Amino acid sequence: MNGWVGKVLRINLSEKKHIIEDLDEDLARDYLGGRGLATKILYDEINPKIDAFDSDNKLIMASGPLTGSGAIAACRSVVVSKSPLGNIGCANVGGNFGSEIKYAGYDLIIFEGKASEPTYLVIEDEKIEYLSAEALWGKDCYETDDILRRKIGDPWKAKEYSIACIGPVGEKGTNIASIIIDKHNAAARGGMGSVMGSKNLKAVVVKGTKGVRVADREAFIKAATEVLEHVKQSHASVESFPKFGSPSVLPLYNEVGMLGTRNFQTGVFEQAEEIGGEALAKKHLRKIRACLTCLQSCGGILKATDPRFMVTSERPEFETVWVFGADCGNGNSSAILKAHDICNQYGMDTIGVGNTIAMCMEMFEKGFLKEKDIGFPLRFGDPGAMVRLVEMTGKQEGFGKEVIKGGYQLSHKYKHPELFVGSKKLEAPAYDPRVCQAQGLNLATAARGACHNKGYTMASEIFGLPSVGGKTDPYVTEGKAQLTKNIQDATCVFDDTGTCLFLILGLWATEIHKQLLPATGVDYSFDEMITCGERTWMIERMFNIKAGLTGKDDNLSPRMLKEPMPEGPGKGRVNRLHEMLPEYYKVRGWDENGVPTEAKLKELGMRW
Ligand code: SF4
Repeated sequence: MNGWVGKVLRINLSEKKHIIEDLDEDLARDYLGGRGLATKILYDEINPKIDAFDSDNKLIMASGPLTGSGAIAACRSVVVSKSPLGNIGCANVGGNFGSEIKYAGYDLIIFEGKASEPTYLVIEDEKIEYLSAEALWGKDCYETDDILRRKIGDPWKAKEYSIACIGPVGEKGTNIASIIIDKHNAAARGGMGSVMGSKNLKAVVVKGTKGVRVADREAFIKAATEVLEHVKQSHASVESFPKFGSPSVLPLYNEVGMLGTRNFQTGVFEQAEEIGGEALAKKHLRKIRACLTCLQSCGGILKATDPRFMVTSERPEFETVWVFGADCGNGNSSAILKAHDICNQYGMDTIGVGNTIAMCMEMFEKGFLKEKDIGFPLRFGDPGAMVRLVEMTGKQEGFGKEVIKGGYQLSHKYKHPELFVGSKKLEAPAYDPRVCQAQGLNLATAARGACHNKGYTMASEIFGLPSVGGKTDPYVTEGKAQLTKNIQDATCVFDDTGTCLFLILGLWATEIHKQLLPATGVDYSFDEMITCGERTWMIERMFNIKAGLTGKDDNLSPRMLKEPMPEGPGKGRVNRLHEMLPEYYKVRGWDENGVPTEAKLKELGMRW
């Protein structure tokens, strides 16, 4: 095969045995790779009703056919499993891990069973070692990474390895544990770190020596060069993201009044400019960093300036800046860096932790949580209290043991579920859907729960990109079902092929298509490629239905549906999900209960 390596590494942790299997070529063609292919395999191999921490659950780390090939910004991999939240779990991550999997000779690694004691794996091409992680258990992600690299020996050689590990939070069966890659990239959402921990798998160390073979090298280089030239036309790709990172968009979202603030009590944050990408860069940026074959260079190193929160941290993404900034009512950028760093250190999802803490702040201010519950006052805009609680969460101390369960569980325990902002038990990202109707539909229908990265409808509703059909009115619901579906399916293609969605403002599925053909040698039409994305969406839906979810789970928090936005350009608006959902089910080929119809499955060549 070309593009794809054509091999799957299946590791049985219970028996410390592995086999290398041929990748099913038909499946690869139908689902492309990454998210789609991994979900299809999971769907076929486990009972979706299974408890996420049952040893029969499987954890799949998967790359796409473009990952590591030299295609533009194709560095991504995904981690897929049954989530502790009860639905499909899928976390997408950058850095070099996905490429190293390919270079070692695999498209996917499937982890089965459960090691009898803490274990880490070293994968060097065909050589797989199962090593004791007893001495690593309990250590945070930074210590774990350092120790494992020291074991490799020569520091220059150690840099060639990519390490995915969990921190102490992932060892404890929680809902917000991430998998941290090389200290600074996170497969964060949906509790994938906890599933890894439930298998007693502390870390996976990978280094490959092989390349990725493409079908037509000359045509592939030509296509990648054209795509690069296209991306260079994007201001976001060559100016704002390299200089200011993804938080460069934060002030814009504030301007349009959809920056979730103080647990989404409003969409406007008065200190947005102070925590926007430009301000962060001016105040804190020390170095810019990029993933392989990406000119957008949104990574970097930032240094805090407030002596109370001293840290040198990876440049946080927009969502992290938002959640520890606007959502917690905090304008102290050093505190944001510190909170972000603690999350990476202990292996926690920044959105999950920050969103839950913002909800606790609201509960405290309304008297639903008391000082005796938390141990100290927890008010919006108090950076010291925020960072203290993030640290307690990482260390699983005091009230941190409650935060670690995630917002959904905590809101129910303290009897105010109406204050949880999320969908399918997953804490919501930054975008207030009262101001962007299609984004509400996307957050409600995304299989892993409230997730902007599964359908960035703002590409149309805010940015009006020609590639997604131009500008649509964010307050209007007509036509949003089809728009949302189109963007969701194209997003699946990004995730399936291993392409970074952060380039969505400068690169679209048409550019992926240009590179995919010479890489794989498969003569996909553009529509056929998008159909692969639609299959990905469909298989996630089928997994969720079999796991016990229903159309009732396609929902938003009451605040989004019933509490009008109090101020800003979207003042007075709510999300009108009920106007879009029936139409969405129709365009998806699902029945009125949100269940895929036999006719649609047949059209896509799928079956239950
Ligand atoms: S946009 Fe950022 S995260 Fe994505 S590939 Fe480029 S540098 Fe990596």
